[in-house]
Amino acid sequence: MAVATIVKSNRDLPIAPNLAAYEAVPAEAFWARARRELDGLPGGAGLNIAHEAVDRHAAGARADHLALRWLGRHGGRRDLTFAELGRETSRFANALAGLGLGKGDLVAALAGRIPELYVAALGTLKNRSVFSPLFSAFGPEPIRTRLALGKAKALLTTELLYERKVAALRGSLPHLEHVILVGEGGGETNVPGTHDYRRLLEAASDRFEIGPTDPEDVALVHFTSGTTGTPKGAVHVHGAIVSHHITGKLALDLHPDDVFWCTADPGWVTGTSYGIISPLSNGVTMIADEGDFEAGRWYAILASERVSVWYTAPTAIRMMMKAGIELVREHEYPALRFMASVGEPLHPAGVVWGERAFGLPFHDNWWQTETGGIMIANFASMDIRPGSMGKPVYGVEAGIVHRRENGGVDEVTAVGEQGELALRPGWPSMFRAYIGEPARYAKCFADGWYLTGDLVRCDADGYFWFVGRADDVIKSSGHLIGPFEVESTLLEHPAVAQAGVIGKPDPVAGEIVKAFVAVKPGYEPSRDLEKELLAHARVRLGAVVAPKEIELVEEVPATRSGKIMRRLLKARELGLPEGDVSTLETPE
Ligand code: AMP
Repeated sequence: MAVATIVKSNRDLPIAPNLAAYEAVPAEAFWARARRELDGLPGGAGLNIAHEAVDRHAAGARADHLALRWLGRHGGRRDLTFAELGRETSRFANALAGLGLGKGDLVAALAGRIPELYVAALGTLKNRSVFSPLFSAFGPEPIRTRLALGKAKALLTTELLYERKVAALRGSLPHLEHVILVGEGGGETNVPGTHDYRRLLEAASDRFEIGPTDPEDVALVHFTSGTTGTPKGAVHVHGAIVSHHITGKLALDLHPDDVFWCTADPGWVTGTSYGIISPLSNGVTMIADEGDFEAGRWYAILASERVSVWYTAPTAIRMMMKAGIELVREHEYPALRFMASVGEPLHPAGVVWGERAFGLPFHDNWWQTETGGIMIANFASMDIRPGSMGKPVYGVEAGIVHRRENGGVDEVTAVGEQGELALRPGWPSMFRAYIGEPARYAKCFADGWYLTGDLVRCDADGYFWFVGRADDVIKSSGHLIGPFEVESTLLEHPAVAQAGVIGKPDPVAGEIVKAFVAVKPGYEPSRDLEKELLAHARVRLGAVVAPKEIELVEEVPATRSGKIMRRLLKARELGLPEGDVSTLETPE
């Protein structure tokens, strides 16, 4: 759908945008300037994310400014000013130190959007331990794999999630020394072999001095999925705060009096970089809503909390579009000034719907776990071409390349030609490693470029347009899912001989996980078996990762070495002519 450009003029904007006009700035000069927006640790002791996000504001003019407003799933709220957040996170840091956890130790979190999660994330960073969020809807299998890969020494979770998903795994996680439990509604717990969050924090001092932190010290590990093999632990450093901060200011246009709401869950990278770190570093008030998506609830929050900058995702936008514009009209949103979207392709209809519903377009932006922060964006001052992801963030050089057989790349120079999106390494929030997999990390780079795995094209005016993924990973409701992880779990079922998993296009979720399964001799394909396999996958993987559909087939196409030809499966699913499929086969 071709939609006319949405022309912007700074004069029409309710507030002067932080980026008055888009212009290319040399990378080095830009990042040096961005670094100067931050304070650094007192006495030149380095750069620590939690200092920039919390302590510098807690000790300064914004001490009494509201930092975090938490809204409970069933009503109720909790407000924390920067000063209060400073004290709570110091308590958590002291508690970790008291347990013997220090610099470089990995502290994972598995929790819904509860206040303790936000405190734990920042307290962990204060202690110079490494924070790694896990999505609370994961089943035991993805949780076990990630805790083992990260050699997590501590886990913050809730009593309920622990009993349902973690307790049975403890024997297989020798590195996991400490589990800290939050009780129902923040209450106390008494579970053998665990610590109670409340008692731990009550016993801890609310003063903590962050130790020297090198910008290259590891701060965060975000797990993401590839086409093959185990999940990848993308390693990020404290210096990433420079990207988090400046992209919040320029690409999300955060101003000091904003109330900012990022709807992403901190179990995924957006919910940490922009659902915790970036707004706090910019000193604004952030909303954290514990509840799940519900259009009416969201509109009530936007209105009553006077949200001014809103960062959400295409699946949610499509669900809002489905719920109808009348529901939007039940409230007024005089404070709302900037709306952005990330995580999946935002179709022109979504951008335009924003204008119809709220009088503002959605500004699409692009980034991924590995980039740590926004790389390509529609800035407030820039004309929007609906369907385009926008232009590279200052300091980021984006190119388009074709991979060569020999491992090198050819740069695409022709306007409009499709190729793989590549970024020139050097921005502060670039991932520094995949845990324990140097070869896999090295494969992401060629001829001085980082290769993103996304296919794009660029128009004559420098706007980037998303075309699709270059690999087989699946994006379902904004969550990146590795087909291999799903196939491996299906293969654990005694009836399964072969399994191939693809993303099937879906009007709301973007894609859903669909599995093709061939059964072993002695098993009869039946509707009951399908149901049994669906249940098997759901129990082990959790609802977000498990297939929504299973099709029993005689044979799953595979190469001679046994590699599943997912592209062939996908071509058949999409009804592409068989003649086309030879080129779609997954290469050996
Ligand atoms: P994740 O690492 O889970 O954040 O997923 C990153 C991937 O999501 C990217 O590599 C893209 O495939 C997709 N993605 C993120 N933002 C956009 C966007 N604005 N348009 C299209 N795809 C996107």
